[in-house]
Amino acid sequence: MLSSKMYIDGEWTDALSGATLTTVDPSTGEPLGTAPAAGEEDVDRAVMAARTAFKSWAMQPQKNRSDALLKISAAIRERAGELAELESREHGTPYNDAFGAVMGAAAKFEWSAYAAYRVMGEQIPVDFTTISYMQRHAAGVVGFIIPWNLPTIMAAVKLAPAIAVGNTAVIKPASINSLIGLKMAEIIHDTGALPPGVVNFVTGPGGTAGSAIAKHPEVDIIGFTGSSETGKTLLRDAADTVKKCIMELGGNNPVLVLPDADVDKALDILAWRQFNNSGQHCSGPGRYYIHERIYDEFVQKFKARAEAVKMGDSKDKTVEMGPVVSAEHQRHVLDYIKGAVGEGARIVTGGEAVSPGFFIQPTVVADVKHEMKIAREEVFGPVAVLIKYTDDDDLIALANDSRYGLCSHIWTRDLGAGMKLVENLQVGAAFINTQMLMDEQSWGTSVKESGIGKEGGLRGMLEFTDQKLVCIKYAD
Ligand code: NAP
Repeated sequence: MLSSKMYIDGEWTDALSGATLTTVDPSTGEPLGTAPAAGEEDVDRAVMAARTAFKSWAMQPQKNRSDALLKISAAIRERAGELAELESREHGTPYNDAFGAVMGAAAKFEWSAYAAYRVMGEQIPVDFTTISYMQRHAAGVVGFIIPWNLPTIMAAVKLAPAIAVGNTAVIKPASINSLIGLKMAEIIHDTGALPPGVVNFVTGPGGTAGSAIAKHPEVDIIGFTGSSETGKTLLRDAADTVKKCIMELGGNNPVLVLPDADVDKALDILAWRQFNNSGQHCSGPGRYYIHERIYDEFVQKFKARAEAVKMGDSKDKTVEMGPVVSAEHQRHVLDYIKGAVGEGARIVTGGEAVSPGFFIQPTVVADVKHEMKIAREEVFGPVAVLIKYTDDDDLIALANDSRYGLCSHIWTRDLGAGMKLVENLQVGAAFINTQMLMDEQSWGTSVKESGIGKEGGLRGMLEFTDQKLVCIKYAD
């Protein structure tokens, strides 16, 4: 069994209560290791360490902070194998995918180190006797609460821009991926690049440790990624101290496959997005609306793609799809499949659990109706949900009939038709004949119950700054 401590104020520590939590290898269902289960008092220690560290970290010349981030980036690259192996053991990501995610995390630190030099204030031309400007400065202590679906990259995309511009942070990984978070803490600590307290990792249940971060009066900003339900709880918890909240929440992303779409090209991307990371991607396909003219071809070809996926223990480097993350999530996904069959949908392939571990066969469910539960909610698993539409259906209305507004995938050879959809869809991102291509400079944004604020790129970095209007009269 592995075991790790939390990282508070530059030191390794247990929870003051001594409580621990156990994480599991989802490929075997066997316990993997233990981590501290933080209570409110541990969160308080971490937040106060971050508050103390903020004073001098925010005042450092940008070069010092950027150099520190470059050291962290280099260390993550150097130890990528270690982190990727743990991600594949504790999260179930196939090793090669996990390695790619870790390299992506390193890139976030590197990019943030350089991008922070571009964060500046703005001068306002009031008149010729006054200097008036908006000073931009670090906001303070940022509390991050992250989900399990992409553990390393999620931590990096939040931490790197925040500390680059002078904030300090307390970060709580998802409980079931606590050890991955603490491995990242170890890599950061071993660089010696950051003064104590700049970054603190606490592990523990969302309802206690996460909630304590959201409520703590010394936390200035909450950066959260997770479900819309937890996001709403956090917004309520943060309201008493009027914290700024950056929320990346759930989705049920419509995929619109028009009659002229290139089905093979579409499936090259969509089937990969559906089964990569066992479908546990916020920006992946949620529900597919396929035109009746190509529906049967699409279903048959999706079936072939699903049956070709090599599923297995994520530590095996030849595996393409591992398990879902936990027994609970496995039950949740299987319930959607069972429910859909009960409502009249048809399983084309897959649909079964595979043990040991928390596997679900790559699954294609066809003849789904827009009103069925599996099409209305976020399944977040290796399950393609296929709906046939006809020329008479209003595709835009169907796609927009959702409480979510994260992103949309469009497949058509008619760019005019594609752009009409882009104009009318209520989403934060739309992809025509491709998938989400996140350059370091792009940022994520959502509408409706999928989120508030921006994450990534320079715009996301600015979320971690405040502005102050300064006016100086220097002549009459
Ligand atoms: P989740 O259940 O909402 O948990 C997310 C985090 O919140 C975890 O660290 C969790 O801790 C913590 N938490 C739970 N209850 C809390 C509370 N009352 N107060 C404070 N924190 C609390 O989400 P998940 O199941 O881990 O992740 C999957 C969800 O994330 C999906 O809905 C997916 O769409 C969404 N997501 C969105 C994006 C995006 O960019 N919009 C990206 C990735 C994922 P515990 O682990 O201890 O429960």
